[in-house]
Amino acid sequence: MQSFDQLSRYVFEDHHVRGELVQLRESYQQIIENHDYPAPIKKVLGELMAATSLLTATLKFEGEITVQLQGNGPVKVAVINANHQQELRGIARYDQVIQDDIYSLQELFGQGALVITVTPNQGERYQGVVPLSEPTVAKCLESYFQQSEQLKTRLWFAIDDEFKSVSGMLLQVLPVDKDKAVTDFDHLEILTDTVKSEEMLQLPAEELLIRLYHQENPQMFAPQPVRFVCGCSKERCESALISLGAEELEHIIDEQEQVDMHCEYCNSSYRFEKEALESLLQQLRQPN
Ligand SMILES: [Zn+2]
Repeated sequence: MQSFDQLSRYVFEDHHVRGELVQLRESYQQIIENHDYPAPIKKVLGELMAATSLLTATLKFEGEITVQLQGNGPVKVAVINANHQQELRGIARYDQVIQDDIYSLQELFGQGALVITVTPNQGERYQGVVPLSEPTVAKCLESYFQQSEQLKTRLWFAIDDEFKSVSGMLLQVLPVDKDKAVTDFDHLEILTDTVKSEEMLQLPAEELLIRLYHQENPQMFAPQPVRFVCGCSKERCESALISLGAEELEHIIDEQEQVDMHCEYCNSSYRFEKEALESLLQQLRQPN
């Protein structure tokens, strides 16, 4: 049976090439539901989500990755954030009517950039930026890998017409014995290029790998579940209110009967009545 919302990693040991396949359904729905996004944004967010999951699997430490497309076009930003446990959330912001039939990143984002930010739980954050010079998420990411890691990398994405599920595949040279690896990479790339969208979206991972690479002996690791996790909570809202400082909070209490905080990732709302706000103010004034 097909199992969605998981990421499979595999390695072609004889070829010094590694691969990944991610297939998302429920987690993808949770990211786009409640937002009423136009079709091109659903597609971009789906691909970005699959891409972020694929990239997160390469983290060698605990931490977070943010993959963001930004620009001066009708869509200002589309962003997916993930951590090493494959917990993802994301959002897109746009301020114009988006026609259903536009798909190139340039039409959506205008002049812009792909920004990848890696934030280890311990250690320095680093960021890679490539201009949006390619029409697709896959091609932009390929040029990112070429520039930042100098590792030959290919990506494939598939999304169904009704935006129910999305799938992504990655093929990347392992950073050893580069000359040999690139030759073998080309062979595996040709095999992977034969993949059909329906296969990526519908076949169980093992079956897909056998179909594509039956003679290449890919070694599969245990699949990892991928989940939508927003991370918002009443406590986080309280922290945000407290971080405003006593003066600002007092000002809010004077001006408003209540504060409504809204999480744009999951559409949850948190309401703080005057009494609750006053108790936060008290905590601020008399810490313990
Ligand atoms: Zn939330």
